[in-house]
Amino acid sequence: MKPLAERTEQLKQSNIRAITLMLQEVDGINLGQGICDMPTPEPIKRGAHAAIDDDKSIYSYYGGILQLREALLKKSRAYNRIPANSVDDIMVTVGSTGAFVATILTLLDAGDEVIVFEPYYGYHCNLLTVMGASLKFVRTTALDWDIDFEHVESLISSRTKAIIVNTPGNPNGKVWSRDELNQMATLLKKHDLWAITDEIYEYMLYDGREHISLASIPGAYERTITLSGFSKTYNMTGWRLGYAVGPESVITKMGLLADLIYICAPTPLQHGVAEAFSMSDNYFADMLTSYERKRQLMCTTLEEIGFNVPWPQGSYYVLADFTPLRERFEGFDDDMQASQTLVDRAGIGTVAGRSFFAEEADGDSCLRFCFAKEYDVLEEACRRLKAAFPPSA
Ligand code: GLN
Repeated sequence: MKPLAERTEQLKQSNIRAITLMLQEVDGINLGQGICDMPTPEPIKRGAHAAIDDDKSIYSYYGGILQLREALLKKSRAYNRIPANSVDDIMVTVGSTGAFVATILTLLDAGDEVIVFEPYYGYHCNLLTVMGASLKFVRTTALDWDIDFEHVESLISSRTKAIIVNTPGNPNGKVWSRDELNQMATLLKKHDLWAITDEIYEYMLYDGREHISLASIPGAYERTITLSGFSKTYNMTGWRLGYAVGPESVITKMGLLADLIYICAPTPLQHGVAEAFSMSDNYFADMLTSYERKRQLMCTTLEEIGFNVPWPQGSYYVLADFTPLRERFEGFDDDMQASQTLVDRAGIGTVAGRSFFAEEADGDSCLRFCFAKEYDVLEEACRRLKAAFPPSA
């Protein structure tokens, strides 16, 4: 038989998903995949029920229903301070992953170079690789994950087309500062680059940090595509609803591509999520209070056990280093073994550190923990972890 397309050769199950499948078998607690299994807000659920009952069942415009795009335009201007011009700068997608796919299909040709910061969200890199892009990595390290912009600039060549920004970041929770975003915007302009910025954790910020969108930096909007979604903010990862904001010329092409791939995001679910904008702003404050408590519990527990813990500045993940545990426990030789050890001894799922680095060795002493769980479930997870790996006296 003739072979499958070359682009399928490197494809394999992501470690993020693999842990979910493994955990289902042992009935463990999944702190691996960023599932977000708290309840979806009632207004959103009611909105979707009503849309289904009202037979809002036909295709929407490929860029999404107008009501939702209008709400997103308002939100992008008010919360993100993005100078979007009209609803034509907004498109609703199947998850922020759908937005990412539409963006890279629109911006990149095979062979184009893209700069990515490590540790990265693997789906960004794997999709870029499937597209035939060539990746250049900029390493950032705990505790602060500072960016060496001279190094970034040294990697830019005539073939460099885009830079990926992810703030707040997955897996390390880095929140980009205004100064960093200013430096990035300067580089974009100087070298005529596109930026693709994934801001899906935009409401999860700690220690009084502020979310700043790259596209809000003067001069950056025209070369920046901002991606976000509803999954994380409203606990609805399975609804697959995201969006992109950017210059109309780019969004139009992205919409045409999305139309070819899946026509539109599911219409009744779009009506449902449009109800999110009728909720009061207290929703975000309450969510933050709840995540602050969870971050505290998760990070304190890991520190008590002996992990080195770079407390996340935002998002709901922590990328913790287990090196100090090696002296006290068996089964922590590398990240894959450590992840398996946590499943076997505590029934806890995590994601192996190598999933976030180009070179496996760079992630082989860390695990990603996701604390987007109900508080009592997280408490139980922490209790199990401490029982299996007792803190040293
Ligand atoms: N973004 C989430 C994570 O990093 C889940 C999405 C996925 O399964 N890739 O865990």
